[in-house]
Parts: sequence; C-alpha cells; structure tokens
Amino acid sequence: MKDGFGRSIDYMRISVTDRCDLRCKYCMPEEGIKKVDKSKILNYEEIMRVCSVAIELGINKFKITGGEPLVRYDLMKLLRGMKALPGCEEVTMTTNGQLLPQYIDEIADIGIDGINISLDTLKPERYRDITRVGDLSKTLEAIDLCIEKGIKTKLNCLLQKDFNEDEIKDLTDFALGKDIDIRFIELMPIGVADAERGLSNEETMHCIKDIYPEIQEDHRKHGNGPAVYYKVPGKGGSIGIISAVHGSFCESCNRIRLTSMGYIKPCLCYEEGVFIRPYLEKEDDELRQVFKEIIKFKPARHCFENVRAVDHSAMAIIGG
Ligand code: SAM
Ligand code: SF4
Repeated sequence: MKDGFGRSIDYMRISVTDRCDLRCKYCMPEEGIKKVDKSKILNYEEIMRVCSVAIELGINKFKITGGEPLVRYDLMKLLRGMKALPGCEEVTMTTNGQLLPQYIDEIADIGIDGINISLDTLKPERYRDITRVGDLSKTLEAIDLCIEKGIKTKLNCLLQKDFNEDEIKDLTDFALGKDIDIRFIELMPIGVADAERGLSNEETMHCIKDIYPEIQEDHRKHGNGPAVYYKVPGKGGSIGIISAVHGSFCESCNRIRLTSMGYIKPCLCYEEGVFIRPYLEKEDDELRQVFKEIIKFKPARHCFENVRAVDHSAMAIIGG
C-alpha cells in the first residue's frame, strides 16, 4: 500500500527477539540490554496474524531479525509458518551466523529466500573484540554452509575508523571470491553506537575505487533494500553501499518495522509508532485500519545526519 508520500510499502523487518548471543560494541552495552519480560514479546501466532494482515495490504516481503533471531526458541517453526502464508512473497533473515551451522539443514529445507550474515572482520581476535564473545570460525562456517546449500547469501559489514577500515580489501576479496555480495553499512547514531567512528559512504567508496579502479555501477536488482551496488568486472558478487546516515534513499523507502514487543515503527530514526498487541484481539478490519494509519504517518525522511545519538532504544531491540 502507499504511504502519505506516495511510496509503496511492501516490506517489513520483524525483530523476533531483543536477546543476542553476542555483545557487539556498537549495538549493545557490555552487560547486554535490560531483557524484556518474555510475556511482553509477541508469540508466533501473533506475529503470523500481523503478517497475514500486512500481506492483505500488500506488505508481502519479510526480513526476520533481532537481537539474534536464531536464539529465539523454535524459530524454524515461525520461518516455516511464514513461508506457508498465502500471498507471502519472501522471507529472509539477518543473523550473526554463530548458531547457523546447527540449523542450516532445516533452513534450507524451509526454502528461505536469503540470508544476510554480519561480518565486520576476518581476524579472529578482532571479531572477538568487537563482538566481545564471538567465535569467527563459526560465522565463516555458516557462510560456507549457506553457499553450499544454494541460499542467496550477502555479507553486512560495518566499517569503523581505527578498527577495521584496513580490511576493506580483504573483506571485499573474501566475498567476491565466493561470488556473494558484500554491503558496507554506515554506522547509525543509535543506542550505544558512536557514529563518529563510522566510515562515511564517501570514505568507503573512495577506498573501494582505489582498490578496484575498474569498478562499475551495477543496476541489477539485488534485494529490497537501499544499497547502491557496484561490480568489479570478472567477479561474481557485487559491492553494496548502504548510506544509512548520509544517504538520500528515503524517497524510495518501502519498509516498516515490527519490534519483538509488537511496536510498529514506520521509520528507524524516530520513536513514533504503535503497539499492535491490543489490536490483535480485535477483528481483522480494525487491525487493517490501524496498519493503514501507521503507514500513513510514515515520515518523509530520517534525520540521522543531524543528531549525535538517537538513544531511544538499542539497535538489537528495534531490529537493525
Ligand atoms: N544479530 C543479527 C546480526 O547481527 O546480523 C541481526 C540483528 S543486528 C541489529 C542487524 C544489523 O544491524 C547487523 O548487520 C548489525 O551490524 C547492524 N547494526 C547494529 N547496530 C548498528 C548501528 N548503530 N548502525 C548501523 N547498523 C547497525
Ligand atoms: Fe547481536 Fe546483531 Fe547486535 Fe551484534 S549486531 S549485538 S549480533 S544483535
């Protein structure tokens, strides 16, 4: 359906949990976030009901995220259920990959439409440092298993000054060498993130052009997101740049977000939204109406470039 600015909204990111097995320094405080009481978290039936109504309104592509989606009990049941929803066009997931190897057979069997795996470094000690507790080898294994199973796989990478900016070439070569896409995302000023440490899209592009002077724009459709893609002639995967802070993709933004507590957020940058749970007890008509209202007040654009920190919530709760 169209929002108040005529944009077609057809995509919803669904955070299924605020919990995570990692503690990435830009996403969570060391002690983790204050855990939301489980009774406040939407159950699978509730999530499926929200999705069914969303599909009726034309929102038929879903990204499962978190926190870490794979720490949620019985996630496979939800993925299977969502894939079977009439009219559902796409179910994809974003994960840190740590638990993926143990679920890969089932995920492949479910027929997931794509997996984004977060990978900021190829150095085991740096991985442990940025995630505080993670084991790089598990995420690398997850990437290989996804590729082996024929799952459309993309890497997400956050670049930070004096941390991993020296790995742009290694990370890109790693992805392109496996014929998969890598996307560099600007660090957003949310929660504990110090956005000033993040590399801007321009700085990243400058480095990439130095490394691959032969790079060309890649106009093929790669997914539903705001990434701008580039291709290195002769290489399989592409390089995506997601200008989450300095970008001007708001005019084509197609998404809304559902947090694990059932809060529907029309824009990542603002707190405004609606708790959907009370409406789940009502008839479909009323639920549809609330959805329409939420989409109508989706703001024209974000304001990340004007703020130092949007500290209304941790990224893990909103579902980055
Ligand atoms: N745990 C999963 C993962 O790490 O992929 C899914 C949730 S995580 C919040 C989703 C994505 O958000 C990750 O790729 C992570 O790097 C990114 N992220 C976290 N904090 C961010 C921030 N402040 N700015 C931009 N991206 C961020
Ligand atoms: Fe967990 Fe993902 Fe946040 Fe890292 S970025 S702490 S893996 S939710």
